[in-house]
Amino acid sequence: MPRLLALVAAALLMTHADTAAAQSAAEPLRYTLSFPAPQTNYMEVAASVPTERRPEVELMMAVWTPGSYLVREYERNVEGVTAAAADGRALAVVKSEKNRWRVTTGGAPSVTVKYRVYAREMSVRTNWVEADFALVNGAPTFLTLADRTPRAHEVVIAPATGWNRSLTALPEMAGGPHRYRAPDFDTLADSPIVIGNPAVHEFTVDGKKHYLVNQGEGGIFDGARAVKDLEAIVREYRRMWGFLPYEKYLFLNLLTEAGGGIEHKNSTVLMASRWATRTRRSYNNWLDLASHEFFHAWNVKRLRPVELGPFDYENEVHTKNLWIAEGVTEYYADLTLHRAGLITRDEYLDSVSERIEELQTTPGRLVQSAEMASYDAWIKYYRPDENSINTAVSYYTKGSIVGLLLDARIRKATNGAKSLDDVMKAAYEKYSGMRGYTADEFRAVAEQVAGVSLKGFWDSAVSGTGELDYQETLETLGLRFRSASAPADRPGRTWMGIGTRNDAGRLVVTQVRRDTPGLAAGLNVDDEILAIDNYRVRADRLDNRLEQYRPGDKVTLLVARREQLLRLDLTFGTEPTHAWRLEVNPSATDAQQSSRGRWLNPGRA
Ligand SMILES: [Zn+2]
Repeated sequence: MPRLLALVAAALLMTHADTAAAQSAAEPLRYTLSFPAPQTNYMEVAASVPTERRPEVELMMAVWTPGSYLVREYERNVEGVTAAAADGRALAVVKSEKNRWRVTTGGAPSVTVKYRVYAREMSVRTNWVEADFALVNGAPTFLTLADRTPRAHEVVIAPATGWNRSLTALPEMAGGPHRYRAPDFDTLADSPIVIGNPAVHEFTVDGKKHYLVNQGEGGIFDGARAVKDLEAIVREYRRMWGFLPYEKYLFLNLLTEAGGGIEHKNSTVLMASRWATRTRRSYNNWLDLASHEFFHAWNVKRLRPVELGPFDYENEVHTKNLWIAEGVTEYYADLTLHRAGLITRDEYLDSVSERIEELQTTPGRLVQSAEMASYDAWIKYYRPDENSINTAVSYYTKGSIVGLLLDARIRKATNGAKSLDDVMKAAYEKYSGMRGYTADEFRAVAEQVAGVSLKGFWDSAVSGTGELDYQETLETLGLRFRSASAPADRPGRTWMGIGTRNDAGRLVVTQVRRDTPGLAAGLNVDDEILAIDNYRVRADRLDNRLEQYRPGDKVTLLVARREQLLRLDLTFGTEPTHAWRLEVNPSATDAQQSSRGRWLNPGRA
């Protein structure tokens, strides 16, 4: 991109001090955010844009949010863009690209650009405005100068009537409440803001303030318990890394019956159910989400793949290293819950087992490698379809398992002296600065810690599409798969290898897995299965009907495909059993048991 090349050239010409001087010299962009009618789901933005007396300035809006790899066209929610000089004189505004606006300045030193943003998409990366509160994300809200000259971006918030607080990781600015100053656009885009009257719980670790901001507790979500357990998570990561990398940190927790989380440098946005603290399973899931996003404060927001920053907010950015950025983060998320004493050993092993089973029952694991799953996140992971299971693998799932295998490999190679914890810390030491790491650089750090070449491991587990080998990991950590001890004669369930949905009583195929009876029979997605062997089968009776058959039985399916009736011959198979349940191996050696102890409870070792 010409714009990026220009930035790189400028950066090369300037020393660090020059850059800092230029930053402070450039006039800031100043925004006012207001909510005159929040019940209409709109917010209003007024931006005072310095022009440096250029005849025209071009403004752009980001089309995607770092951490969520899909072009989302945020500009579609922007309306009524106008510009005026200081004396109120209207200035011409022309839409110059899908996400850009060009303002004719008439020589004015600054222009005021106003627009409205429709804010009604309940996700961690978008905006939501309603009578009770607002979630404001930087990327879908703030137009900035397209030339991206380094400059501060200031935000003054006029909350709606009755809203008392605004919470964000942005540095506060003098002159009263609701005034913030980001040193640059990246910080603004990386600092979501919650405005309203949320419940705020605090704790301090290493003298640094942490805030759990609960929007929508409703007397149901147990904020006191959640903040106590978050503190345990923070303290365990502090033990592992040896430091906390920020001055303050916010968990912006929106209890809106939505789901998901997204990482920022000094905060995270989480979405969950207000009933999330009511059952152990849902609460563990919430803790896991918080643990995952918090780990990103180190892994990806500071220690990052070289491609993930500084960001090009207008184009896709591809990296082969999301298996590290997301997968290794996923590996530590629940491991840390156990290390912090929040989930039991068995709960942790069950959680890992679920991921292994997901991977091992996804045919796409033999098609797409962990690094290509990373690279194609934009067109595959974030754009799934009915065939994804056959062609793709999740870099979260596979990456987390590769993390486990890598951890065990290093523990074995060093006789338990080193682990993946040491790799992450060494990589942070080396690559958490301005540039980030390449795939080869991360690999070199891991090999340095392991003291051996890991070429075979990278080739098979990261670049390859073959089956993963779990044996070494099981032995090193004193584990085994439960199936090893299960009776061999347990009959498997009759299976077609398809996914279905109940469409008002109709049994409709939603997915046909590779190498299954359904594929061999010629079943297609969207086929309606009417009968098995001339007997009507309704959607809610499928499981019952399958129990009438044994694997190996041959049947004829009556199928409707685009209103035409077809008969398809099918031979039932056997559903893959839960063969991937991890458990402690009771006959593990003393050495294996102590290795497992150092892995699960390093703080107590
Ligand atoms: Zn993540």
